[in-house]
Amino acid sequence: MRILVTGGAGFLGSHLIDRLMAQGHEVVCLDNFYTGTKRNILKWLDNPYFELIRHDITEPIRLEVDQIYHLACPASPIHYQYNPVKTIKTNVIGTMNMLGLAKRVKARFFLASTSEVYGDPDVHPQTEDYRGNVNCIGIRSCYDEGKRVAETLSFDYHRQNGVDIRVVRIFNTYGPRMLENDGRVVSNFIAQALRNQPLTVYGDGSQTRSFCYVSDLVEGFIRLMNSDQIGPMNLGNPGEYTILELAEKIQNMINPGAEIIFKPLPEDDPKQRQPDITRAKTWLGWEPTVPLDRGLELTVKDFRDRFEGNKD
Ligand code: NAD
Ligand code: UDP
Repeated sequence: MRILVTGGAGFLGSHLIDRLMAQGHEVVCLDNFYTGTKRNILKWLDNPYFELIRHDITEPIRLEVDQIYHLACPASPIHYQYNPVKTIKTNVIGTMNMLGLAKRVKARFFLASTSEVYGDPDVHPQTEDYRGNVNCIGIRSCYDEGKRVAETLSFDYHRQNGVDIRVVRIFNTYGPRMLENDGRVVSNFIAQALRNQPLTVYGDGSQTRSFCYVSDLVEGFIRLMNSDQIGPMNLGNPGEYTILELAEKIQNMINPGAEIIFKPLPEDDPKQRQPDITRAKTWLGWEPTVPLDRGLELTVKDFRDRFEGNKD
């Protein structure tokens, strides 16, 4: 198949491309390189079955493809809050352009949505039928309301135009190739511990998150895309940790002498988050296989290699 991956030069997109290329597909990667980098897809650049297009999805584009994995959107708060209006345009106009493309060429369309659609949840763990607790005027709303509209658009194109959709709600995912200056918690703690800087815990560190290793997530993407289910479907690892526990784990793993310091909690920071993955288990037979300790080891190795300049 010829498969389009928007945001393919980013963290998740590039891992997905590795899997799709290994499966023998033709892949078109579309990215504006806002947070993505050519380094992530370097190994495919000379492959005749791989095409890279520098393009901003807020502009329409004409392509002929069979499937579209739509991932283009900055995912980390510091990046999506840098230009919030642009983040909304990417989620709304960009998603509309990609759905329009899917409609024109009758491609199956996969939306990378997020657990952020649940906001600061008052249902725990979060099931897909929970409608969320989102502040529509807060500093995270460009992203979480943007993704909520992206889901609405997907379902409306499905109902109105018969577009074949798949919607996945991704919970915090980590792994090699995360940007070291990304501002997300796993990459921050690893980079800080390796540089012998204090690990910055926001608030008192009692807020929780559940961390999924990237290879597990990509397996879930491919299974959902090629199943008969449209979603929405949670994909994430139900193992739930406080942020302080995570800091201590990474401190012990890399640098027991590193200090842990506390900084103010950002506005609207969700207090707890854990996916209910019953749907993914029963519909796809999917569940995560990589434990946090193992996933962190692999991520730390990648950061060390990059810091030591061992990689191109
Ligand atoms: P990332 O920032 O590494 O990747 C996003 C990619 O999209 C980058 O390559 C960026 O350059 C590109 N992009 C951004 N705006 C664009 C635009 N207007 N036009 C073209 N390209 C554009 O982030 P990621 O972690 O790989 O996330 C990928 C997707 O998964 C995002 O949609 C994100 O919302 C979603 N998601 C990720 C997580 C996670 O934990 N990583 C959690 C929930 C949802
Ligand atoms: N966080 C932290 N220190 C950091 C970066 C993040 O304590 O250096 C916290 C953040 O406040 C949040 C959690 O870690 O409670 C996860 O943050 P991240 O930005 O990775 O993901 P999200 O909040 O989008 O789930």
